[in-house]
This record gives sequence, structure tokens and C-alpha cells, in this order.
Amino acid sequence: MTSKTSTSANNALKIIPLGGLHEIGKNTCVFEINDEIMLLDAGLAFPTDGMHGVNIVLPDVTYLRENRHKIKGMIVTHGHEDHIGGIAFHLKQFDIPVIYGPRLAMALLEGKLNEAGMSDRTELRPVRPRETVRVGNSFLVEYIRNTHSIADSCSVIIHTPVGIVIHTGDFKFDHTPVDGETFDIQKLAEAGEKGVLCLVSDSTNSEVPGHTASERSVFPNLDREFSKADKRLIVTTFSSSVHRVNMILELAQKHNRKVFVVGRSMLNVIAHARDLGYIKCPESLFLPLKSLSHTADENVLILTTGSQGEPLAALTRIAEDSHRQIKVKQGDTIVFSANPIPGNTIAVVNTIDKLMMRGAKVIYGKDKGIHVSGHGAQEDQKLMLALTRPKYFLPVHGEHRMLVKHSETAQSMGVPAENMVIINNGDIVEVNPSGIRIAGQVPSGIELVDASRVGVVGRDVLKERQQLAEDGVVTIAATVGNNGKLVADPTVQIRGVAQSISQERFQGQVKQIISQVLANKGAELVVSNGNGKAALDLDALKVALDQDLRRLVRRELDKRDPMLILLIQGAGVEGTIQSQPQAEPRPKAQVKPRAESKPRAESKPRAESKPRAESKPKAEPQPQAEPVAQAAVTERRTRTRATAASVS
Ligand SMILES: [Zn+2]
Ligand SMILES: [Zn+2]
Repeated sequence: MTSKTSTSANNALKIIPLGGLHEIGKNTCVFEINDEIMLLDAGLAFPTDGMHGVNIVLPDVTYLRENRHKIKGMIVTHGHEDHIGGIAFHLKQFDIPVIYGPRLAMALLEGKLNEAGMSDRTELRPVRPRETVRVGNSFLVEYIRNTHSIADSCSVIIHTPVGIVIHTGDFKFDHTPVDGETFDIQKLAEAGEKGVLCLVSDSTNSEVPGHTASERSVFPNLDREFSKADKRLIVTTFSSSVHRVNMILELAQKHNRKVFVVGRSMLNVIAHARDLGYIKCPESLFLPLKSLSHTADENVLILTTGSQGEPLAALTRIAEDSHRQIKVKQGDTIVFSANPIPGNTIAVVNTIDKLMMRGAKVIYGKDKGIHVSGHGAQEDQKLMLALTRPKYFLPVHGEHRMLVKHSETAQSMGVPAENMVIINNGDIVEVNPSGIRIAGQVPSGIELVDASRVGVVGRDVLKERQQLAEDGVVTIAATVGNNGKLVADPTVQIRGVAQSISQERFQGQVKQIISQVLANKGAELVVSNGNGKAALDLDALKVALDQDLRRLVRRELDKRDPMLILLIQGAGVEGTIQSQPQAEPRPKAQVKPRAESKPRAESKPRAESKPRAESKPKAEPQPQAEPVAQAAVTERRTRTRATAASVS
């Protein structure tokens, strides 16, 4: 089958991954030819240490915003967060006319879009394996069943004007899958027989020799651990691992335990998977949490989120004894049926420690055989290459060393080194029958979403949070009269600073600096306010003060560099104003609005996420604005930038 579109064979197909390279997460890939864009997956990643207050990491989608008119549709390979988690956010910035995907992925995505109020922005079309869909005039996409840790996962055979591209999605070759739905390797081989121009393949386990074991191999090992438990059993796994959840439920029945499901995502996935028939178990197996205390310990199985030590997940809260309904009891057996994703290891071991300290027996670790990966190892990757026999090869879905290793595997299978490229997010790969090359870059990078889920955390905001976390914050507030003198002693607040300094002495030094600057520069700072009356230029005063105060802070705090917030208020200027010095500086009121409570729910929320790097004054109304006229606030946010905002 070939696309009906006739185009010059020299016209290259562009493949531009915006996420998923040099990382595990936020897989987002652009296919472009003849001025038509087809997207493949759009996932999210979770924050790493140092991303304070950040809940979600998304790829920079500037390229898609700028080329929104070319977007014809999206194809989704499966329902994991690193493949569909970004879609609701992107739809706020550009339209995607139609999204195709397997039924479970579409059901999970529908829930996300409803929650974000975005369901009217696109059309979701569930696709079954071996169905073919057309996207624009240039792409004809054949869905084929693969095997992975989530049910209903697919690889895609993409027919383009320059040839066939196979994107594997996430896969392993599981010949005995839990749901009996085997990998459609016949279709892979058929495409290989016809001739595959390029294989784009999952690199997650390219460093792991051998084959990834079948999901089914976990069953007897879990069974063994379940048999050993004589009190309550608490089991955690990825909520999206539908096959695993299915086995755990089956084992619960076998061991005569009722199941208490904890954690929103776990409840959500189980509900959708049961609806679609991927999980089959009687309703009577489940009990609500309120029945927990009336159920005998040996009949309890608590199935919970938190296998990755995620800060807000139920198991993490149980470990910290902050879960309202579940407390660890002596003799509980807690099973981690998941391995930590790189980056989560510390959080996971901390959780395990805390659970053990509370008296639980914790079963974890690779040697127990209670978890297998959903991604194929080297021999799986070789089988993929052998079946598809691609001319060109593009390893994706992995950190750099995994991509390198995968390319070596491909070379060992006879793909010449010059027929593959190792790329980074944002690289434009051009491929056509005469070659594959990197033809430039589009903006890549990341966008960070805050707990509010409406705000995007700019890089400078993140830097500020790091500064706050590492060095604390110093707030200095002063009121200056129109005579150019301090109305009262300035107030100083120091928070999160480890050094102990004499507050009184420090306050005296601050007062001295402000008085000195006022004495030296007072005359320059008086401006006409337009009514013919003189007024003090508060912004200019702040600029004049900033450097001296910053120097003082650094000197007094042993070269630490806390965030300095300077609040200068004019009193009595124009003779119309109350002259009460602001008793309490309100550092929070200043820090928060930037971080970012701007009403970003509107339809082009991130269109201006970049300008934050400039020193533009923020003019948005501040939620906690005080009725103090003529006062201005300067926030010295970074070493290079001073911003001013009116509080009125
Ligand atoms: Zn993935
Ligand atoms: Zn996946």
C-alpha cells in the first residue's frame, strides 16, 4: 500500500522529535512533508531535583505554534503519560484537527481533555489494530498491535510520499502476553519485505542484553510473595500497567483478599480498562476504603499508586504517616511491583526505608522477579531490525548512551553507520531514498508547569526558586517622604538564610545606606508628577539602592546570594496620601503573582512564556494589592534583572 499522493521523490520527509531524546519522557514527534505536519504522541515528563514547585515538564512547542496551519492531525501509539500527557496543554496553544489512537489511550485522553476543558478542541478517533487512517494528503498510517506494559499499544507503519517509515512506539516482544494479544509481527515482516525506508525505534533497554521476559513471568513470583503474607498486603505498581494490575487482581481473588484501590490514577485506569474489557474481574472484588477497618487483615489487599516515590502519591503519604485512612500496621507486607525509573531511585528507597521503620515488611528489588520491563532489550531490538530491514535507522526514546548503544546494535545487524543519525530534541532529520541527515534545528528545550496546572514556570522563575531554596530571601521595606527622608526605620526580614546575623545591626546598616543614597541622590530623584508638583521617582530610587543593598547583603551573609526584595513606598507625595509606613513587608505577595498566577487559562497561554527573560515591568493586577497609592514595588529577581510593578 502506498500513499496516493504524488510528489517529487527528492522532496525529503522531515522527522523532528521535540521530546523523548536524551531522556525518558515527553515523547513528542513531528512528521512533516509537503507543508503538512502529522504529530506522533505528545507526552510529559516529571520534574527532576531542583525544579521547585514544578509538577510537569513539557517540550517547547514553539515550532508547532509557528506552524499551526500545517498541522493535519496526530497519531497516538499508546496511553502512557510520556506519550499522551502533554496533549491537553498543547491544545491550548494550537489546534489539532483529529487525534487517532488505540481505544484505551483515547479513553484516558478523553478524561484528560474533559478535565482541562479542552474536549471541544479536537476530535478523538479510536482505532483498532490493522486499521489504516489518513492524515492530510501525505500520511497513511497503519496501526499494528504490539506488546508493551500497557494494554492496547501499537506500532505504526507510516506510508509517506518518500517511502515507508515504521515507528515502533514503545515495545517488547512478549510472545505470551497476559491478554493473549500478541505482537503483529506478520505485518512488520510484510513491511520489511516491501522495503522500509526508515525505522524509528524504542531505545529504552538498548543497554540490556538478552530478551525482556514476558509479563507473564511475574505471575508465579507475585503469587509466591502473596502466599507468604499473613497480614495485610499492600501492593504498588504503575497504574498504567494494565496487565500487571490485572494479574494482581487475579491473585487477590486466588488468595481470598478484597481489593481496596487507592490513588486517583489507579482508580481511573482500572475503570477505563474494565469498561473496555482489558480487565475482567467481578465488582464484588472491590471494597471502598471505609470498609477497611471492618475487614480482617488477611483478607485485605490495598492496591496503590506511589511505586516511584512520587511526593503526592498515596504510598508516599502512607510512608510519611500523613494518609488519612491508611496507617502502616506491624506485620503489613508491602510489595513494590515496579522498578524505579532512573531519577526516582532516591525517592523510592526513602519510601521503602520509611515503610520499614513503621514496621512493614517490604518486598522489592530485581532479584524477586516481581517486575519486568515493558521495553525490549537488545535481542528484542535485533528482532525488530531483522523483521523490518530498514534502509535508515533512527533510535529514539532514550538517554544519549541508550541511543548510541541502539545504533551499535543496528550496525551489528548490517545497517551502515552512515545510514543512521543520533539526534537531540529539536533536530530536523531529513530522510528520503537518497539519504538521511540532520538539516538544522527548531527550538527545543522545556516548559514547566506548576502545581496550579495553568501556569507555565519560565526558566527565570525556576532560577528564582532555586535561589530561594539555596540562599533564602531578604526583604527590605522603607517609606520615604516627599522631603526625601525616611519616614520611619526600614524593616528587614530574613527568611531561609542559614547564617545568624544580628538583625538589629543589619537593620542599622540598611538604614544607613538608604539615608546615604537619599542624601546623595535625593535631588536627582525628584520629578514632576504632571500636576506641577514635585514627587519622588520611586523606581529610580530603587535602582539607585539596589546595588548598594545587594552588596551589603552579600557581605553580611558570607557571599550568599539570597533573593532581595525591595519595597519602597512614598508617603505624603502630592499631599494626598496616607503616610503610614508599611508595617509588614509582604514578600509573598510579591513573589507569588510572578510564579505564576497570571490568568493563563486563556487560549494562548504560553505564547508569551519567553518574554519573561526580559526586564519588562509586570503590569498585571496583583491579587493581594493593597490600597496604598503611590507605592511601587521592586523585585530584584535575578542578578541581571530588576522589575517593577505598581501596587495600586
Ligand atoms: Zn514511553
Ligand atoms: Zn509506554
